[in-house]
Amino acid sequence: MTVGRGENTIKTTCPYCGVGCGILASTSEEGGVSVLGDPEHPANFGRLCSKGSALGETTDWSDRLLYPEIAGTRTHWDHALDLISSKFSDAIAAYGPDSVAFYISGQLLTEDYYVANKLMKGYIGSANIDTNSRLCMASSVAGHRRAFGTDTVPGTYEDLELADLLILVGSNLAWCHPVLYQRIVAAKASRPEMKVVLVEPRLTMTNDIADIHLPIRFDGDVALFEGLLAYLKEKNGLNEEYIAAYTTGFDAALAAASHYSLAEISVETGLEISDLEEFYRLCLKTEKTVTVYSQGVNQSIAGTDKVSAIINCHLATGRIGREGMGPFSITGQPNAMGGREVGGMANMLACHMDIENADHRSITQRFWNSPMIVDKPGLKAVDLFRAIRDGEIKAVWIMGTNPVDSLPEADLVKEALETCPFVVVSDIVQRTDTTAYADVALPSEGWGEKEGLVTNSERRISRQQRFLPSPGEARADWWQIAQVAKRMGYEYAFDFPDAASVAREYAAMSAFENDGDRDFDIGALSHMTAREFADFSPVQWPFKDGENPRSTRFFTKGEFYTSDRKARFQVPAKRNPKSFNHTYSYTLTTGRIRDQWHTMTRTGKSSRLSQHLAEPFVEIHPADAEDLRIKEAELVEIYNDHGSIIVRALLTDRVSQKSVFLPMHWTDQFASNARINCLVPANTDPYSGQPASKNVPCLIKRFTASYYGFAVTREKPNLSKFDYWAIAKCDGGWRIELAIEDRTADYAEMAKDILGAGEILDYQDQRKGEYRIAVFDGGDVKGVFYLSPTPVSVSRSWLVNQLCASHESKISRYELLAGRPGAEGQDIGAIVCSCFSVGRNQIVDAVTKKGCVTLPSVGGCLKAGTNCGSCRSEIQEILNEFVVIQAAE
Ligand code: SF4
Repeated sequence: MTVGRGENTIKTTCPYCGVGCGILASTSEEGGVSVLGDPEHPANFGRLCSKGSALGETTDWSDRLLYPEIAGTRTHWDHALDLISSKFSDAIAAYGPDSVAFYISGQLLTEDYYVANKLMKGYIGSANIDTNSRLCMASSVAGHRRAFGTDTVPGTYEDLELADLLILVGSNLAWCHPVLYQRIVAAKASRPEMKVVLVEPRLTMTNDIADIHLPIRFDGDVALFEGLLAYLKEKNGLNEEYIAAYTTGFDAALAAASHYSLAEISVETGLEISDLEEFYRLCLKTEKTVTVYSQGVNQSIAGTDKVSAIINCHLATGRIGREGMGPFSITGQPNAMGGREVGGMANMLACHMDIENADHRSITQRFWNSPMIVDKPGLKAVDLFRAIRDGEIKAVWIMGTNPVDSLPEADLVKEALETCPFVVVSDIVQRTDTTAYADVALPSEGWGEKEGLVTNSERRISRQQRFLPSPGEARADWWQIAQVAKRMGYEYAFDFPDAASVAREYAAMSAFENDGDRDFDIGALSHMTAREFADFSPVQWPFKDGENPRSTRFFTKGEFYTSDRKARFQVPAKRNPKSFNHTYSYTLTTGRIRDQWHTMTRTGKSSRLSQHLAEPFVEIHPADAEDLRIKEAELVEIYNDHGSIIVRALLTDRVSQKSVFLPMHWTDQFASNARINCLVPANTDPYSGQPASKNVPCLIKRFTASYYGFAVTREKPNLSKFDYWAIAKCDGGWRIELAIEDRTADYAEMAKDILGAGEILDYQDQRKGEYRIAVFDGGDVKGVFYLSPTPVSVSRSWLVNQLCASHESKISRYELLAGRPGAEGQDIGAIVCSCFSVGRNQIVDAVTKKGCVTLPSVGGCLKAGTNCGSCRSEIQEILNEFVVIQAAE
């Protein structure tokens, strides 16, 4: 886990979330990779979360796509590229430019994005290029553009630390942006007077730092912030000077906001009037206010209106562009911001220019010297895949993303790719739910192999560096696109020798005919030498030619990017969207968990990260579970008109009654049937085209398992016979959860399928209907398997370590069969701290038997929470539970 800073240490950037942490990566002579947070990187100052800390465990080549493939068979790059070029050219010739499409990703580097966008919008002549960032922050983009005239994040991370009031809306920072969360924790510890308000239907781990939790009704955000605007007016809390000097449209926005009483807002938000008043009073009296928002705001059919309602309040108070003030949208992906800047979305041109703006089209075309330039937006992600399904798109190229799992109506995406005449997938992983549909699969370079720029949520551009050899014949995505462009006849415009030359061209474009009327200007980078590109230090934009790098805030004194340089107040149209369908009893919301990233293609390779939550689950309120006759740890089916999935029930009052939470990560590679997006209808925000993934009607019923199983095995077995399975990596093998509906299923047959042959030790309890078996190969255990009519109760955290232990003795073999350690051993319980593999039972012991009553004392005793800090909220929760119990005794 630790790494020195020797000569083989290189500075790079984390490839996961939009915090954009700097990393020091080192390689050993054996090829191992270890990482540390970069203490000099301004995003993280040395911190890393559990995902970033485990990056070194994800760089092996075990599941990599190593060579180009046509129809699943290895081929040469030239054959693959020729085929792509001819299929795309044929479709364009026969059906026009809009018959082809690119679906790209926030995982791509800026250079990849730039080349893809240039080819599609300037040479093919279509805007059918969209990014999976459409799914996470398109509503913020739309909200920024209609208020500011461009997609500008006004503030910096420092503002979150300097604020006296931090409002977190629909944002589980503790798990989704952990390092930024840790920065806030530290700021609040040093300034306890700083207040944090969490606006969130669920009680997430982020509540740990909240002074006030507002458990808002789904999609009640517009009402909450319109109510705030009206309250500020009523209490003389507005900045009339700022409104008059730098904005337009205030009267209409205020009139709309003032239309409702506090009682009506209470109904719409589901919040008590007294709680609303307390929140509004806090906002009124606190000048230094930052409102942070992410997917809980964006992933809604009213996402753009929510963003507008938030921005309206900041404009009305002039709390924008100054230290510790402003609306702050935080992005999900490592280069979602880079994709926005470079025009990776179907409705934008490069460098924050607009397709609808004739001057911008002219600038773009003249800079590219391209034969054409698009003059209308292309299809956004959801519409794009519908068009593929409907036969309008004849060829699609998917780069670095897994739409079969991540898009709403995910089964429709499968259908679309099945019917599409030609599908290209560029990826690092050979087998994903999407590569299964590839006519041509192209091996891309992964983290540590590719090089280029990324931009984080505070407009800070950093470098991802190459420090590992590329496996097989993997190549950079920008190179793949440029090769196809050349074959399509555009040699002159895509003759990039390296990533640095792409970056320079992009930087020059941002400054081209830019007299300060466009926000995005990184002209200073247009002269970068190869050495300067290699040694790139993080820099926040704008970074104009001739200027020194500096931290910047926007809009302190207006200067918005509208025609009159004034911000536009908006009147939200969808104040109270009624997306809830009353024929369904429950509402599901989707989200992330602490230790996994997106569809687990990388984090799923780390056994450390798989310890925390190893199986797809649903959080369900105990009262609902009782109504539905569902007990803890039983399996449940969640279903609606779009599909159904099977997941484990986790009973908790963190969710309110009638609502459930499901994580987004599991795919067909890790579970039998847990792709939650097959339940999510493709309802989108009318302005941003972003799908609503947080307010999905569903029904729930108990899954009728005749037998539940749990296994730990050395080899990965074929699990297709089971009605339910979920598999995760553990040290030396795999941990597997199973269930089967057939009451007559043969125990021994199942065990053989999972464990294979060997020396057997087994036990059957006919009265309870339980069966346990361990299979040995000499002193090593090949695997253990437990079967029971009720959810299997064994010590999973102990068992997953037994594959690497010796089992010569009878006692140790019987312990295996028992599924837990003997008196001498310790059942550490479910893993809480992934970095040091500390379990819940150990923390409870430290609290109850060793007198640890604070986070530092638990850290001192067990090291838990002392590395990345991602688990501190969970440790605090255990402390809260047991310290209170002790005090009461
Ligand atoms: Fe990576 Fe974690 Fe930092 Fe996000 S917070 S960039 S996942 S280390």
